Amino acid sequence: MVRHFLPDNSLGQFLDGLSLFGALHGPVRTTEGVEVFGPVRTESDLLLNYRRTLIPPKKYLLPPRQTILNYTVAAGYTLPDEPEPHIILFGVHPCDLQGIAYLDRVFLGDRPDRLYRRRREAITLVGLSCEPDEFCFCTSDENIPRNADLFLQHVEHGFLVSAVTSKGEEMLDGLGKLLASSRITPQTSAEHRMMTRIREVARSGKTFPDSPLWERFAARCLSCGACSVCCPTCYCFDVLENGALDGTTADRFREWDNCLFRAHGEVAGGTNFRPDRRERFHYRYLHKYLGFGTLAGVPACVGCGRCRVVCPVDIDLTELFTEDGDACS
Ligand code: SF4
Ligand code: SF4
Repeated sequence: MVRHFLPDNSLGQFLDGLSLFGALHGPVRTTEGVEVFGPVRTESDLLLNYRRTLIPPKKYLLPPRQTILNYTVAAGYTLPDEPEPHIILFGVHPCDLQGIAYLDRVFLGDRPDRLYRRRREAITLVGLSCEPDEFCFCTSDENIPRNADLFLQHVEHGFLVSAVTSKGEEMLDGLGKLLASSRITPQTSAEHRMMTRIREVARSGKTFPDSPLWERFAARCLSCGACSVCCPTCYCFDVLENGALDGTTADRFREWDNCLFRAHGEVAGGTNFRPDRRERFHYRYLHKYLGFGTLAGVPACVGCGRCRVVCPVDIDLTELFTEDGDACS
């Protein structure tokens, strides 16, 4: 893969060029001081050295609330048909690119979700390398993720730019005058031990039903759901419908749900499959680390560290892999 050198002082022009392909979004700071993905007006808006945004880029693909069907008496149920605006999502770290790759497997698998696909096709991903902190345990910090269209790696005085997809190559064609060929050899790093363990455990399918950690976590957890909201691969949603009182129109929508909430396991008739926190933690472990159905054995955790950062009572599910003898072996 050819890498080009983009000097720091050409980044503004590079961003201007990217914005010809769609609305430029990237890591920015809100007026309240929160780091989020949002619209980028000028180069100075961008947080080039951010660690992680509060909410991952999944919000572009699965909005917190999204209309999935409209109903009228004449037409019945129909998919919303508004076109999705084209977005250039700049500065996506490798862990979040992995998170999007996981969501793609869920929503573009055997039976693609048409609304997800529409949004996914309207997004161009421009990845950016990062420096891990004490909360991260992702393994992709030095490898170029295959689902980025373009990928930028920080180097001294600039960035190494790679086109990963044909869409990325087309974009670089128009921006070539800003770039120079590079002879810099990319570094490679060893896989992080934590992620290696997680993958081993996922492959083994161990469920650890009797681990004492479930009780300890349950005793502290506030069921606030922050760990799930901020996770780049949590995608559980609820489906609700608002109908007009006269029955002539309705909107059906899906909105983010949360497996740490008591109501998540409730079904018609009042039965709840996971009424207490211990069961909800165990369920989260099963889904996050062991996977379900066609994704059984594929861990959904990409090591971004968000859940460790946001938990108000310092719960860290990865303790399971360091305290449980079986998991650590
Ligand atoms: S489980 Fe935690 S560390 Fe893993 S991907 Fe989700 S938020 Fe990131
Ligand atoms: S963030 Fe912490 S307290 Fe909140 S639901 Fe998750 S584990 Fe429980």
